[in-house]
Amino acid sequence: VVSIENGETIIRSPYPDVEPCDKTFGEFILSYLDEFKNLELMVDYPTGRVYTGAQMKEYVIKVASCLTGLGYKAGDVALLFSSNCLEYPIIFTACSIIGVTVTTANPVYTAGELSRQLEHSETDIIFTQENMVPLVQEAVSMNESITKRVKDIVIIDGSADKCRPFQSFLDDDGTRFPENVDIDPRKSILALPYSSGTTGLPKGVMLSHFNMISNLIQAKCGQMKFKTGEDVLLGLLPFYHIYGMMVLQFGTITQGCKLIVHPKFEPETFLQSIEDYKISYSHLVPAIALFLAKSPIVENYNISSLKTALSAAAPFGLGVTHEVENRLNINMLQAYGLTECSPLTHYDEVPQKHGTIGRLVPSTVAKIVDPISRKCLNVGETGEILLKGPQVMLGYLKNQEATDKTIDKDGWLATGDIGHSDSDGYFTISDRLKELIKYKGFQVAPAELEALLCTHPSIQDAAVIGIEASEDVGEVPKAFVVTKPGEQITQQDILDFVEKNVAPYKKLRGGVSFIDQVPKTASGKILRRMLKDQQ
Ligand code: AMP
Repeated sequence: VVSIENGETIIRSPYPDVEPCDKTFGEFILSYLDEFKNLELMVDYPTGRVYTGAQMKEYVIKVASCLTGLGYKAGDVALLFSSNCLEYPIIFTACSIIGVTVTTANPVYTAGELSRQLEHSETDIIFTQENMVPLVQEAVSMNESITKRVKDIVIIDGSADKCRPFQSFLDDDGTRFPENVDIDPRKSILALPYSSGTTGLPKGVMLSHFNMISNLIQAKCGQMKFKTGEDVLLGLLPFYHIYGMMVLQFGTITQGCKLIVHPKFEPETFLQSIEDYKISYSHLVPAIALFLAKSPIVENYNISSLKTALSAAAPFGLGVTHEVENRLNINMLQAYGLTECSPLTHYDEVPQKHGTIGRLVPSTVAKIVDPISRKCLNVGETGEILLKGPQVMLGYLKNQEATDKTIDKDGWLATGDIGHSDSDGYFTISDRLKELIKYKGFQVAPAELEALLCTHPSIQDAAVIGIEASEDVGEVPKAFVVTKPGEQITQQDILDFVEKNVAPYKKLRGGVSFIDQVPKTASGKILRRMLKDQQ
């Protein structure tokens, strides 16, 4: 897996390369819905509502037909703003068939946060849930360009004034299902999730049909193999995030498994669903894996069906890995990926090499470079991980500068993560170069909180860093604030101000410190390392 090419140490996947696939995402998914037409693919927990492959296909066709009838076409953008539900993959696939880009957002967003994404992504139609309508309408009304552009708000689970019920899509006769839509799978943007990447504000990550199909094939032909018709997967991680979007929704469909869909994490419900549906494979983030390792209530349920758990999205300690394995007698794996890679690039396999994120998925190559000199390092040496493969994004929407900083001219994507590979190709992540804070696997962009803090009338300047918290949460954001001369403001005022304006997971759980000046480089870049060292 390790070779020297043009004087550089290149690490490859142990698996054979996969064939490039130039289908559109819609064609690709419909072929699996046909193949698995009799299998129960999605179950809503706890209502028990079930969709087989055949039912999903029928609904996808109706939704694509209805969207076409309403005038939506290739190049338009749909926002999916909802908790996990069975309709999520149906809407997503229907949009992909007519060439509509799907942008997704965390359902706990505030109106302000949502409004920024609606504007930046140029959203034309919103799919949401009944209880979120007031917030969506507020977000739409915050800016005239959004109000003009958004033509429809569709309520997935009911109805609301001035909105379209999703039922009207399901009542469609399917006759306007578009054939031969002109979509270039390598250029057309299929999904537009938002990520801050290595630095700055959240950016729209442009993932093509080719990117996402490649990643599903890479997973299936590589280490992430589920047993068709047998494995039952936990559908708890959010579908709006690339991990849930791809590994859960479409990993299930393309591998013919059953996904038990949860709209939110509730400890008892989560455990009960494992018992009720004999879940065999559960995708987790470290916070939930830790819950399995420690919580006394785990003893109250029979979760012996569970054979494998997998943690990704944030660092996962070796100690907890062993605790989960010993307590539950399962294989505890780790995977690694990032939104910019659709997301999967590394996956461990059984027998595991604990403490590592596993090896590269097929058709993916890596090199490790010195973060300062950018010189390629040898196996075993620690530096920034660079990746290349068919799953690497097209770029950031309307942001060539950030794209160029992230993907070099040879196609290498700089992950912003620090680590090394051993001679067998197993990677270990040791640190993060990028500013991104990961709270329970959720992204918190320091630049976003800094920009918000600077809008406060009493604040002159601010810097935000992630500080290590407990093992289950990972990092929490902490603010360093410079007040305007003569202004009186308390730490509590600042905490309250932030809390009011951002989704709950972005709250300043690390607290607030007052400083005289934010340390910066000559070019104005915040010296976060200096602030971290002051901790
Ligand atoms: P996201 O785009 O939200 O999926 O975040 C991607 C980032 O999450 C990566 O660049 C890493 O910093 C972090 N990450 C993902 N998986 C792991 C892992 N297994 N161990 C450590 N960090 C991880």
